Amino acid sequence: MTLAERLRAALGPGSVFSATEDVITYEYDYGLDRGMPDLVALPRSTAEVQVLVREAQAAGAPVVARGAGTGIAGGAVPARGGLVISMARMNRVVQIDRPNRCAVVQPGVVNLDLSKVAEPYGLFFAPDPSSQKASTIGGNIANNAGGPHCLSLGATVNHILGLEVVLHDGSVVRMGGKSPDGPGLDLTGVLVGSEGTLGVVTEATVRLLPLPEAVRTTLALFASVEAASEAVSGLIGRGVVPSALEMMDKLALSAIEAAFHAGYPPEAGAVLLVEVDGLLEQVEAQAAVVDEVCRGAGAIEIRLAASDEDRARLWAARKGAASAMGRIAPNYYLHDAVVPRTRLPAILAQVIEVGERYDLPIANLFHAGDGNLHPMILFDIRQPGILDRVLAAGQEILSRCIDAGGTITGEHGVGMEKQAVMPLIFSAEDLEVMRRVRTAVDPSGNFNPDKVLPMPDSHTPAAARGQSAPPGIPDGLWI
Ligand SMILES: Cc1cc2nc3c(=O)[nH]c(=O)nc-3n(C[C@H](O)[C@H](O)[C@H](O)COP(=O)(O)OP(=O)(O)OC[C@H]3O[C@@H](n4cnc5c(N)ncnc54)[C@H](O)[C@@H]3O)c2cc1C
Repeated sequence: MTLAERLRAALGPGSVFSATEDVITYEYDYGLDRGMPDLVALPRSTAEVQVLVREAQAAGAPVVARGAGTGIAGGAVPARGGLVISMARMNRVVQIDRPNRCAVVQPGVVNLDLSKVAEPYGLFFAPDPSSQKASTIGGNIANNAGGPHCLSLGATVNHILGLEVVLHDGSVVRMGGKSPDGPGLDLTGVLVGSEGTLGVVTEATVRLLPLPEAVRTTLALFASVEAASEAVSGLIGRGVVPSALEMMDKLALSAIEAAFHAGYPPEAGAVLLVEVDGLLEQVEAQAAVVDEVCRGAGAIEIRLAASDEDRARLWAARKGAASAMGRIAPNYYLHDAVVPRTRLPAILAQVIEVGERYDLPIANLFHAGDGNLHPMILFDIRQPGILDRVLAAGQEILSRCIDAGGTITGEHGVGMEKQAVMPLIFSAEDLEVMRRVRTAVDPSGNFNPDKVLPMPDSHTPAAARGQSAPPGIPDGLWI
């Protein structure tokens, strides 16, 4: 029997697909890379995942877990074909444990759905990637997702208490649990952010937080990104860590407002969306500081969201910003890098310069509080040769961020897109330790090959596209 026949026999009809027209939608995520799977399976239980992994291993086929495919670094793209395991049918919230403020969930639960289910209990799941209407808890765990509200509450890794994982031989391990900070090696910490290279997460115990008593959302308009950045530094300097601190530049604003009509002023040079939450008295005091600091930094106008609807409108537009870019160009390459937040204005000047030199419009969104920038390079892929220019511009932006003391990803992960630039921020020794961990947990190397770590036989998309090595990457590591 072929692998497909064995998997169909084990999972029954309607769960395993191999026809091109069925599997082609799994060849991409939100990034630029592509890879066609041989098979796609949609298991309903951990036991079915075990069977899939065992059979794939016996056939020597790569195994790629997939959530919603909203990743931007090609993480869920099957670089070498093989079996894609979609978690779409494992989407149950198994338990909301109110007294212990946690939930047990299957990996295919959509991020926002978990907070909706937890809301009647007065609780919510803090990591809120802008993709939260679609992205899954499994994908959030694998990529250690961040989000606007992770500034004060921390990225996904801070909210995962325990995991159930299917390993390369089909065995199941449980790590962590409802009691935080257990003894032994922190395997949960190793799994979070490992981008599907160590195993398939089949269940997670996640921390839930109490809904805040009060929330104040301020929209501050500035003439320039420099002035808005001054306000960011001023706020942090005053000891205010807002729950969210987002910045958008003029080009981003024009697209967002045209798409959503949420009240973002397209005439501003930059805006800050600042949210503080907590106990009522504390929130009133912090909102007053936000107002004072923004005015001190030269805010042209300050608007306080007048109602929950107002606030929801502002956030819907910010979180939908990527889709709004279609107003400017049919394609975008959404970059993700980090610099120390005081370097944001200098980096933005360089991003603008790179855009002008490559003749590409670039809209900028930032999680400004933690220095995470998201330049969106806008283009029309139908123009011959444009992708090379887009990639080269992206590479330059990344190199500038590294030169500024930053790093190659804030939250989207390394995936296929950035594995070749890992040597820009990690030494050969650092990478070797990571490789050893990976090989110890998955000696087969079949879990999500060609992701995260450059391996001697990696199929990197950059090399496949014939790009030359960026400056700083030693010979032999650009593969
Ligand atoms: C418009 C837009 C906005 C975004 N905003 C943010 C943001 O604010 N913050 C942020 O961090 N990201 C953001 N992202 C990126 C993306 O949504 C996140 O990385 C998200 O966590 C991916 O979840 P997913 O379910 O789509 O995973 P996928 O894209 O399907 O997979 C991502 C990775 O997780 C692995 N994986 C998935 N499920 C499992 C599992 N059960 N076990 C093991 N590995 C698994 C995959 O193999 C892959 O490596 C955004 C994306 C878009 C398109």
